[in-house]
Amino acid sequence: MSATFTTALSTPGLTTNNSLRKKRTRLFFSQMYHYLSLTYNFLCALVILPRKKLVTATKNIPKNNDMQYYKGKTLILDLDETLVHSVRLGSENSMKEVSPSIIKKNIEVQCDKQNLLYEVYKRPHVDFFLKTISQWYKVVIYTASMAEYADPVIDWIDQDNVISRRFFRQSCVLKNGNFLKDLTLAEEDLCKVCLVDNSPIAFDLYKENGIALPTWISNPNDESLLDLLPFLDALRFAADVRSILRLQHKLK
Ligand SMILES: [Mg+2]
Repeated sequence: MSATFTTALSTPGLTTNNSLRKKRTRLFFSQMYHYLSLTYNFLCALVILPRKKLVTATKNIPKNNDMQYYKGKTLILDLDETLVHSVRLGSENSMKEVSPSIIKKNIEVQCDKQNLLYEVYKRPHVDFFLKTISQWYKVVIYTASMAEYADPVIDWIDQDNVISRRFFRQSCVLKNGNFLKDLTLAEEDLCKVCLVDNSPIAFDLYKENGIALPTWISNPNDESLLDLLPFLDALRFAADVRSILRLQHKLK
């Protein structure tokens, strides 16, 4: 009797407990599903989709041949005391000692039916400098030296064929005994051209396009060309190089 009574009394309680347990289980799985759904969406937003977009964008990057945007500007380089230094063998200067770490070459020059022998020294880091800037600019050499001398020197330093044009003394403008450089011969649009020269008088016609570099003669530890690279790397993105280069004149 008491057992029947107990069972009769406890049955509704058991039913209620089972029902509650089922509700809690359903609630648990519902919340778990919601949590997993949120986690998946979060991961998609942060990682998976951007990665897919990156892959798609990477596929759309033009090939090297099409990246003319980076080569839209022209960098004109002076030759003597900017990239090399030369002495004529037999002259007084040729007697001076030069560090054995400096790369040099004897170059024979035919001038006025005479054969002259020059010892030409490369400024430290010239090869790396030319290779690097040729990825950013159209590279031109503009020198006040005679073509008979400068041509074979340029042939020597341009081992990777990165120099696209050459201008010599006959292309300079003679003013008060100085050879000035007409940058428009290389690039008519002055927004897109600059001249690196150890002699500031060389860019007297276009002062806002000039970048002065310390004169180099024989210092084996010179790093001026390396120091210039970060600046040239940034300058290639300027809409008008003069807007940046004129600042250096104001700061002086
Ligand atoms: Mg010079």
